[in-house]
Parts: sequence; structure tokens; C-alpha cells
Amino acid sequence: MRVNIVQKARKSPGNCEKCATVLAVGAPYRWWQAYRGTRHTVCMKPSCTPTAADLTGSEKVARLYEAREAARLAVGDCDDTSSIGAERSR
Ligand SMILES: [Zn+2]
Repeated sequence: MRVNIVQKARKSPGNCEKCATVLAVGAPYRWWQAYRGTRHTVCMKPSCTPTAADLTGSEKVARLYEAREAARLAVGDCDDTSSIGAERSR
């Protein structure tokens, strides 16, 4: 799944899904569309970068990723992006 980057919002897309920051007009944001057509928007903060769980098309797999992501956050290890990338490219 591809994440689109809008450099300058022409109108506010709403709030960041992850940190609830209001995405202002003229500010950059990222969005992607899930398999059921749900549109997701997040701000440009590195901490709001979509995870594999956010981007995957399968709910079952998404739940698995979510569990792993939750475990990762619980441990406080923010340096696991390479393994997520490896999963995604499969
Ligand atoms: Zn955010």
C-alpha cells in the first residue's frame, strides 16, 4: 500500500489519526486508503508514520501486526522499522 504525501493541504483533512493533531491548511500531511476504501490521514511526525498494520489489507494480518506493534511499544523499542519493512516487501 502506498502512502501519499500532500505537501500543502488545500483544506484541512481533519485530525491526525494517531496523535489527534489538527492538520492545518497549508501544512503537509500523509494519507493512504485501506482496502475497504477507508481513508486514513496522519501528520508528518516520525512517530505517526503508518505501521505495517495500518497499511495491510487483511484484517486478520492487521490484528497480528497490531499485537506485535503493541508489544514493541510496550518494550519501548522504536528501532524496529527494518523488520517491518521486510514484512511489507514479502
Ligand atoms: Zn500525528
